[in-house]
Amino acid sequence: MKRFLPFLCLAGLCSNKGETPMKQQRFDIDLDKHYNATVVIACEECGRETRQHLKSIIPDTPLTCRCGADLSMGRSEVQRAEQKANAIRQSYRVH
Ligand SMILES: [Zn+2]
Repeated sequence: MKRFLPFLCLAGLCSNKGETPMKQQRFDIDLDKHYNATVVIACEECGRETRQHLKSIIPDTPLTCRCGADLSMGRSEVQRAEQKANAIRQSYRVH
């Protein structure tokens, strides 16, 4: 959990308004060279990382790890992932 905090703050997402801290999602964002965002979701059960294109994630749609654990993302989490991806895109373009 702790290692994701700097990323969230980097993306300006650490204000955490209106979110319940208990439901912190454990995902990270990867961008390919075309700035397409991939969400990397770490399973809390087995630690395996599941990669899913951000565009193909539909909020509140079941998404499961290979071990069967629930990895589905709610609407606010998908929004957060999009904001994070945008922040990373902007930081790439500055350089
Ligand atoms: Zn798992």
